[in-house]
Amino acid sequence: MNSRRDFLQKLTASAFALPFLPLQDLAAEKNTVPDGPVLRVAIMGLGSYGTRVAEAMKDCTRAKLVGVISGTPSKITDWQNKYGIPAKNCYNYENFDQVKNNPDIEAIYVITPNALHHDQVIRVAKAGKHAICEKPMALNAKEGQEMVDACKKANVKLLVGYRMHFEPKTLEIIRMRKAGELGRIRFFQGLCGFRSGDPNQWRLNKQLAGGGSLMDIGIYAINGSRYMIGEEPVWVTAQETKTDAVKFKQGVDETIQFQLGFPSGAVASCLSTYNMNNLDRFFLDGDSGFAELYPSTGYGPIKGRTHKGELTQPHKTHQTVQMDEMAAIIFDGKQPEVPIDGEEAVRDLKIIDAIYAAAGSGKKGELKL
Ligand code: NDP
Repeated sequence: MNSRRDFLQKLTASAFALPFLPLQDLAAEKNTVPDGPVLRVAIMGLGSYGTRVAEAMKDCTRAKLVGVISGTPSKITDWQNKYGIPAKNCYNYENFDQVKNNPDIEAIYVITPNALHHDQVIRVAKAGKHAICEKPMALNAKEGQEMVDACKKANVKLLVGYRMHFEPKTLEIIRMRKAGELGRIRFFQGLCGFRSGDPNQWRLNKQLAGGGSLMDIGIYAINGSRYMIGEEPVWVTAQETKTDAVKFKQGVDETIQFQLGFPSGAVASCLSTYNMNNLDRFFLDGDSGFAELYPSTGYGPIKGRTHKGELTQPHKTHQTVQMDEMAAIIFDGKQPEVPIDGEEAVRDLKIIDAIYAAAGSGKKGELKL
């Protein structure tokens, strides 16, 4: 990936070919880079992950942070100074519908607590802007479908921050599986978890999080089982255990183990938890080989090996790649190896709904994705 610095160097080098036009003006006027137009993005929710995305976007060649939407005026000022954001591109949660009159902003990246995504994405769509939304896209499949429908109706894209779909070692395993190098796939294991800290954070508040570890981290095992096995699950079983009912209140899962069955007969066995460290591991097993990622979904570098040896694909900052790829999807109609659209997220949400139902009832649930 070229850095913005590389890009600027390239521009300077080619300046000799265009003696009469100052290049910065040319680029600003056309708003393009050698690979195509640049996606002008506003971030909504200037928290921990929003900050990470903003920093990563500094190295993007096809996406640029141009606006913010925040409930905290002091953060807006900080971000304006840090990222050179003009006052006309700053909004709060009350007035951001006015973004529809702002041609500078083409896409809004919603990075707020889970429960807010549904209404915020629908408002983004109604403002005529492309919506990028963090995972989990919504609290359940019904909400998710409403978001998909709203974006379709408004004729805007809905993309979800599934950054692992662009991760090179992950993609190499998918390539190997598709090429038959692992043989018939029999089993996937996804272990996702960490010990959750502050008991007062929104992630442990059912109203804002919509659940517990499954919504936040277990979703990686759900999504991963689908792209690793390469099929959609048809049944689910699940079991919930809790060691701290004060910290993890009713409706906020501490630990859930779940199993998914796939049409070929392959099975997935997964664990999602807010109460164990060192769990970030994927294992895929086939008749002719295996693949392991550990860590599998952290910010990287991701590490892994297969029956053929260590995976050596270089690390790239996930959010930088993701934002450049999203620009290519929006502007060029590029099809990612694994989808990142709203429909993809609804499939994960259907599985989440079914896991919670199965954990509650103790019964095997059928899935139709
Ligand atoms: P933070 O708590 O760090 O930030 C959330 C931000 O949302 C806040 O700083 C605030 O920004 C805004 N906000 C608006 N309303 C509320 C509210 N009622 N309570 C709290 N915050 C509010 O959370 P994260 O950044 O860690 O997570 C945000 C989203 O990103 C989640 O959906 C999460 O699942 C997802 N995420 C995805 C990751 C990935 O790797 N793809 C990694 C981490 C998170 P402001 O003050 O500007 O209004």
